[in-house]
Amino acid sequence: MDDRLFRNAMGKFATGVTVITTEHDKQEHGMTANAFMSVSLEPKLVVISIGEKARCLPKIKESGIFGVNILAEDQQDYSMVFAGQKKDEVVEVTFERLAGVPVLQGAIAQISCDVVSEYVEGDHTLFIGKVRDIKLDDSKEPLLFYAGNYRSLETITV
Ligand code: FAD
Repeated sequence: MDDRLFRNAMGKFATGVTVITTEHDKQEHGMTANAFMSVSLEPKLVVISIGEKARCLPKIKESGIFGVNILAEDQQDYSMVFAGQKKDEVVEVTFERLAGVPVLQGAIAQISCDVVSEYVEGDHTLFIGKVRDIKLDDSKEPLLFYAGNYRSLETITV
């Protein structure tokens, strides 16, 4: 099967956008990801999927921690910075801590996790994270991603 067909089909699934954050040698690192979902309520588990070439991968493996930052609609810049799409522009990035895990200021949800399992599947590694803590900001709407483009929510009134 053609790679483009597969990518286009997966892109039909509209998602939010997260930045996965971690820490290595006392240095914060982030990576844009939309492969994120909740797994279990008891215990509280989430999963992320990280490509084998991502520099983030060995950092999460070694630190055993990651943060999931669900981006607000005014944070497209962050998504592009952490996807390596804004290398020539200076965008100020502010990290803070949630239960000892680096997270991004201004995200609509910050979720700090301990890695409890990892599974190599094809060219990605799935990390299962046990949630340490959560912080929400209900004042903003989410950034969305669909068919390779950023979108925002529109309320439909019936
Ligand atoms: P690096 O190349 O190390 O870092 C990426 C960028 O983040 C670099 O430009 C770097 O300067 C910047 N950065 C990192 N840390 C900091 C910091 N502390 N301060 C300032 N800047 C920093 N890939 C996946 O594997 N899984 C997914 O689910 C996924 N979903 C995606 C969803 C979207 C909407 C997009 C746009 C991309 C997605 N990607 C996904 C691709 C992924 O974001 C890129 O391949 C990413 O650049 C690879 O990360 P890396 O760890 O190699 O990053």
